[in-house]
Amino acid sequence: MLKPRQAVIEMAPYSPPTGAREEKVRLDFNEHTVGCSPQVIEFLREKLTAGRLTMYPEYAEAIVELAEFFEVSTDELALTNGTDEAIQVFVNTFVDRGDDVVLLKPSYAMYRFYTDLAGGCVREVEYRAAQDLTFPREELVAAITPRTKAVMIANPNNPTGTGAALDDLRRVLESAPGAAVLIDEAYFEFSGKTALKWIREYPNLFVSRTFSKVYGMAAMRCGCMFSSAENVKWMRKAQSPYSVNMLAALAARAAVRDREHVACWVEEVLAAREMVAEGLTRLGIKFFKSEANFVLFQAGPRAIPIRDALRERGVLVRDRSYEIPGCVRVTIGTREQMRRFLEELETVWAR
Ligand code: PMP
Repeated sequence: MLKPRQAVIEMAPYSPPTGAREEKVRLDFNEHTVGCSPQVIEFLREKLTAGRLTMYPEYAEAIVELAEFFEVSTDELALTNGTDEAIQVFVNTFVDRGDDVVLLKPSYAMYRFYTDLAGGCVREVEYRAAQDLTFPREELVAAITPRTKAVMIANPNNPTGTGAALDDLRRVLESAPGAAVLIDEAYFEFSGKTALKWIREYPNLFVSRTFSKVYGMAAMRCGCMFSSAENVKWMRKAQSPYSVNMLAALAARAAVRDREHVACWVEEVLAAREMVAEGLTRLGIKFFKSEANFVLFQAGPRAIPIRDALRERGVLVRDRSYEIPGCVRVTIGTREQMRRFLEELETVWAR
């Protein structure tokens, strides 16, 4: 029997729910609930030939187009296999075994996952329900020490949906000059708040974006990491050379060209989120103010039975009660989908 590394034995597994999602209203993964731009499919059709699949991917064209779109230079951006790979490369580039990494709790599971895998020591700062799960800025700053090598923050945060003010992020960046600070902006388009324009101002800042959410391409696995040219050079060195497949690199190029598709989706989601807020209020269900395409609400001791009852009625939501007692997270889709969600919720809530 082979024995894996100790870090692998000790780390908590990540096991998202799987199976039979296609036929349901999928409000459980914070995905786009309709589809990516038709221009993406068109571009892939046009570019995909048998000959092309024989070649290892090249990223030069994608990097030029994406740099232009994000208004950075080509050496300030790394293309990644989803944000997940951006996090992995960030950790592998800046965190050694035994190094301190400051994270928020609850937040996106992959920060801890890759830190644990690298043998880093996680220091956690909690979001407090009593403070409406707002960004715990002072507690976070207090947890940063000269030994801190990395800090990872999702803004807006998953699963709380709450966002940090840009001034709060400045305070964190300025309190951690010796640490690599990642601001994960997977849900940026729904909040409109970004630290991306600061990459030339703060040499410790890293910003990630994804094509999995507002662009509706989670299956493609494509993301971007931004930082100073110097930092990006190190990360590219530590990255697997062909981790982003050719289709993903093509899809990303077409996706950013269709600004209209993104703007329409943001508008729909924001209107639907407002509708959900009103619906939950009407039902007397407490929820947290969201800046993203999902809402965390308090179902109390019935969190899991309510998730299960909704699933039986064809609507998938995500239990989060293991992180914040009683909480369930619902992704915001179209107004029509959210009307259905509210109807089903009303029925199961009344039982
Ligand atoms: N960051 C956050 C905060 C997320 O919630 C998620 C997805 N749930 C991701 C990153 C993952 O993004 P990707 O699909 O680009 O790996």
